[in-house]
Amino acid sequence: MQCTTNRPGMECGFMSGKGCGYSGGTCHPIVESCQGCDRTVTAGEMVYCKSYPDPAAKWRFGPCNFATHIKAEVKEDSKKINPLKASKRASAKKK
Ligand code: SF4
Repeated sequence: MQCTTNRPGMECGFMSGKGCGYSGGTCHPIVESCQGCDRTVTAGEMVYCKSYPDPAAKWRFGPCNFATHIKAEVKEDSKKINPLKASKRASAKKK
């Protein structure tokens, strides 16, 4: 449904016939860490996130998982384990 509060006319999943269903009744502007993300949208003089109504909360415990301007760190284990072989090895040890 189209927003009637901070981003008028833009589609938003939180809007309903009763108004904005997000906590507080409106979405919040982006935070500094969001600069450069493709999901930002400008409405009036403010910049919001298209995907998440409270960007500060999205960054509170680490990088935002929706961010398009950062790459997720992939931890590579030096030793890769084949789960099938590991299972066979474990069952062989039990005997
Ligand atoms: S997707 Fe994440 S990083 Fe991008 S604007 Fe939204 S909250 Fe900010």
